[in-house]
Amino acid sequence: MALIVQKFGGSSVADADKVRNVARIVTETYRKGHSVVVVLSAQGDTTDELIEKARELNPKASKREMDMLLATGEQISIALCAMAIERMGYQAISLTGWQAGMLTDSAYSAARIKRIHTERIRKELDKRKIVLVAGFQGINKYDDVTTLGRGGSDTSAVALAASLHADLCQIYTDVDGVYTADPRHVTGARKIDEITFDEMLELASLGAQVLHNRSVEMAKRYGVNMEVLSSFSGHMGTKVKEVVKTMEKNHVSGIAKDKNVARLALVGLADQPGIAFKIFSLLARKDINVDIILQSIGRNESKDISFTVARGDGPEAKRILEEHQQSIGFQSVELNEEVAKVSIVGAGMVNNAGVACKMFEALFSAGININMISTSEIKVSVLVDERDADRAVQAIHDRFFNEFGSN
Ligand code: ASP
Ligand code: MG
Repeated sequence: MALIVQKFGGSSVADADKVRNVARIVTETYRKGHSVVVVLSAQGDTTDELIEKARELNPKASKREMDMLLATGEQISIALCAMAIERMGYQAISLTGWQAGMLTDSAYSAARIKRIHTERIRKELDKRKIVLVAGFQGINKYDDVTTLGRGGSDTSAVALAASLHADLCQIYTDVDGVYTADPRHVTGARKIDEITFDEMLELASLGAQVLHNRSVEMAKRYGVNMEVLSSFSGHMGTKVKEVVKTMEKNHVSGIAKDKNVARLALVGLADQPGIAFKIFSLLARKDINVDIILQSIGRNESKDISFTVARGDGPEAKRILEEHQQSIGFQSVELNEEVAKVSIVGAGMVNNAGVACKMFEALFSAGININMISTSEIKVSVLVDERDADRAVQAIHDRFFNEFGSN
């Protein structure tokens, strides 16, 4: 029989009916003979409400006390759910992060899990109990309560699955799984049955907010099989793993749009060694991450460099460059905050020269201009004007995924 970790997000436990629904899913799994560890988030918007309560009293509350407060949200969920399970005639026990042996470092509000002492959980599982663990929280070496950062319950679940050597970590949420594109904006978007960790990481960082990135990184590192599924629909979800069956066939798994970008263009730089180094070390010193970089071919001893940063960093990056205009030596710097990055992601893309071409063709057919291009082993990104972004995603999606497409 398998050991399964089932995690339910805030929307899945938002009220009594929903908690009862979770109890039903959990006990069904248990009845099949599996051992079940359940990780829960705080109900609905509880965490936000707790933050608001803190703000009323002290907008500058210490992080230690914030963690003490926020950790209560998850404790309400596990206790209520244990009660619902008991009511259904099964044995359950709820455990705080501390009781469950979740040791973290001391970075309040952004703690990292260091180790999990699983003895207590094991003991309860051996008694055939359903074990409910409060997500998002742990304890540090001073025996103080810590939290893992917003959305951290996914990470709690994967960490538990890794240290218990669970057969599967199911992440229940309010969507059916991971989609080929955002189903709220793209017609024809469909659920992906299986996806690799690397693809999931790319899609997540590109704005497909289904799973917390840290949880996927951890699942990849420890080889935890994950599944994302809906706690409401009962449909098959999306499996996230190292290698997937369909990798050969499907070159592209999904398409993502990221509006959190700005482009800076430096015009009239000297065409000589050391210029790029100067520019990007200035930005690195201020912790500004640069994503796509494009350098023109030098002509008349002059060249241009353009690059993208997170939109919030745009104005500061511009200011830094202007401050150093003399020492870098350029004519002008231009900031464009009305751009978006559209990317196709697919693990099977590596050996397929035609994939990028198909993407460009789709954009050409839709009359959309490409400002910049970047590629990696599993992704091709283009920078387009923000007003074209939704149309770009739809056009690319149609090209790769509609019934006439040959993906
Ligand atoms: N309740 C926490 C939050 O809202 C943790 C989580 O939901 O994963 O961020
Ligand atoms: Mg939450």
